[in-house]
Amino acid sequence: MDFVTGHMGWIEVVCGPMFSGKSEEVIRRLRRAMIARKRVQVFKPALDRRYSDDEIVSHADSRMKSEVVDSAAGILAQLDWRTQVVGVDEANFFGAALVQVAQQLADSGKQVIIAGLDTDYMGRPFTPMPDLLCLAESITKTLAICVRCGNPAKHTQRLAGGDELIVVGALGAYEARCRRCFEPGIPKQETFDFVRAARLAEPAGEAP
Ligand code: ADP
Ligand code: ZN
Repeated sequence: MDFVTGHMGWIEVVCGPMFSGKSEEVIRRLRRAMIARKRVQVFKPALDRRYSDDEIVSHADSRMKSEVVDSAAGILAQLDWRTQVVGVDEANFFGAALVQVAQQLADSGKQVIIAGLDTDYMGRPFTPMPDLLCLAESITKTLAICVRCGNPAKHTQRLAGGDELIVVGALGAYEARCRRCFEPGIPKQETFDFVRAARLAEPAGEAP
């Protein structure tokens, strides 16, 4: 409860795999809060400088100005306590410490909107999302489209890199896959070479 305004806070979580529209959804909600003339602050982790230094950017290139912080504690340090709505993208980069920060913000009357991956590259629950989902007032699970078969996709398939939990996604390092097509870890056959396969399928003599 914000004792100045009397407003009650809460936590909204948007979870799902990469490419499922989490950032778009968070940006949509924050834009609406701005239209309602609420004071909004948006945070993203310093680790994630993939597309922009000071914006959250969706894969379809919708953008919103954000503040970069090194850790969950940085959110509290940079918070203007007049802020009414707090957006946090890429929650997984903040680790377990984000849980207490989100609780503190909501307890002090803020609307907290958090987006993050609910499962990691192995398909396991990804800290701190399980705890946040339990503590949230509202939960939205977004699904992507499986790039293999077109079904709804709940998995983030890592295509290259090692077995560290966090590998910041360069272009082509991850793709969305459904339950059936997902392969935990790095797939044996990284990408299917359609061009080569098509050539092999051509009748002998026709290939240039
Ligand atoms: P997230 O934050 O969950 O990674 P974004 O909001 O950044 O997702 O991006 C969602 C957008 O990504 C979609 O609106 C669509 O334009 C694009 N996109 C690219 N690949 C896919 C896919 N496999 N499934 C769904 N959307 C995709
Ligand atoms: Zn599939």
